Amino acid sequence: MPKSATSARPALKLVSADDALARILDGVPALPTVEAPLLDALGLVLAEDVAADHDVPPFRNSAMDGYAVRGDDVASAPVELRVVGEIAAGGFPQGEVGPGQAMRIMTGAPMPAGADTVVRFEDTDNASDVVTITAATPRGMAIRQAGEDVRKGETILTKGAVLRAAEIGLLASDGRASVRVRKRPRVAVFSTGDEIVDLDAPLEPGQIRDSNRYTLASAIRASGAEPWVRGIVRDSPDALRSALREAGAADAIVTSGGVSVGDHDHMKPVLAELGTIDFWAIAIRPGRPLAFGELKDGERRVPIFGLPGNTVSALVTFELFVRPALLRMQGRGNVARPRAKARLLDPVDKPDFLRVFARGIHDPDAGTVRLTGPQGSGILRSMSLANCLIDLPVGPSRIEKGETVDVILTEQPESR
Ligand code: AMP
Ligand code: MG
Repeated sequence: MPKSATSARPALKLVSADDALARILDGVPALPTVEAPLLDALGLVLAEDVAADHDVPPFRNSAMDGYAVRGDDVASAPVELRVVGEIAAGGFPQGEVGPGQAMRIMTGAPMPAGADTVVRFEDTDNASDVVTITAATPRGMAIRQAGEDVRKGETILTKGAVLRAAEIGLLASDGRASVRVRKRPRVAVFSTGDEIVDLDAPLEPGQIRDSNRYTLASAIRASGAEPWVRGIVRDSPDALRSALREAGAADAIVTSGGVSVGDHDHMKPVLAELGTIDFWAIAIRPGRPLAFGELKDGERRVPIFGLPGNTVSALVTFELFVRPALLRMQGRGNVARPRAKARLLDPVDKPDFLRVFARGIHDPDAGTVRLTGPQGSGILRSMSLANCLIDLPVGPSRIEKGETVDVILTEQPESR
């Protein structure tokens, strides 16, 4: 008789990081589209083509504070012009500008008829009845034409565009209060482990703080998804079962801990009972054990990622496998971070059968990368100090100082 169900567990299948990622990207659904208020759409993928409702700017206006004049009158300087009025932004010009005349005009105010040029205050004596223009000004100066940014009817954004601040602004300038986008995934996140306590509880002997839930919730948010922060789940099948059932209301689930082969790692049997699951030992360091599958929630299938408990392993596997999946669920085509080549400043010893993702400090100007220091899978400071992951392939057991290596630029967004 085995001491527990888990001690009878067969060895995990060993898969490559590339295979694991391909299967994950294959297995996650694209989320449905929703109509989102404009300010909630930052970072999301547009699910419609947008044609301009009107010209932007809607009318010909001044680009400077100055005087609206006729170009013929200011071809040479000095010249005196009679001031026939004043227009502020938001106002509308009364009358027009004839030969020998000028109208005071502020930035953004509509151009009066007759005028085709603005002379900025700095090139005048700023007088109110008769103004002296002190610098010759070419015709057409400091004028913004109607529609010079966007023409009515023109396609300003196409389906698939990722909405950054500039795109949100374009939509606002067109008067769009809401926009059709692919839904922002709501991702349940919880920790497992009898030794884990939350931040407000006293730390008793044998206990450690729950850092993973905070790390992972933050990484979820940074990937454009919305974390749904759940609790700490005890190492019991019943506790895990009810936590997973509740989390089934989310679009995806991320857990940490309980996925290796210890006596109290209950993820495997419980997930097998509630859905379909693959358990893998991925041929990487850090972060070997990883569970990926689907939880059944009625008719729905909710992707679930069971990450290892070690702090570095949890965050590295999130970066390599969960972030791309959450981006794909949001409808993003490219889910790969930018990479670079760099000259390694420290030698690295590694198991030849594993692909190692060492934490590095990349200097793009020097074209170099060095290690952050100790690389244990529980040394979270190695992630805090890092600005990249050094991707060391299966094969060699030592990479020498001076060799060229591949780095993953984890501080840079995936290109659109
Ligand atoms: P496990 O994957 O459950 O075997 O946990 C591996 C290691 O990670 C153990 O040393 C745990 O104490 C630690 N660990 C697990 N969960 C967390 C967490 N939420 N925060 C910090 N460390 C954790
Ligand atoms: Mg555990």
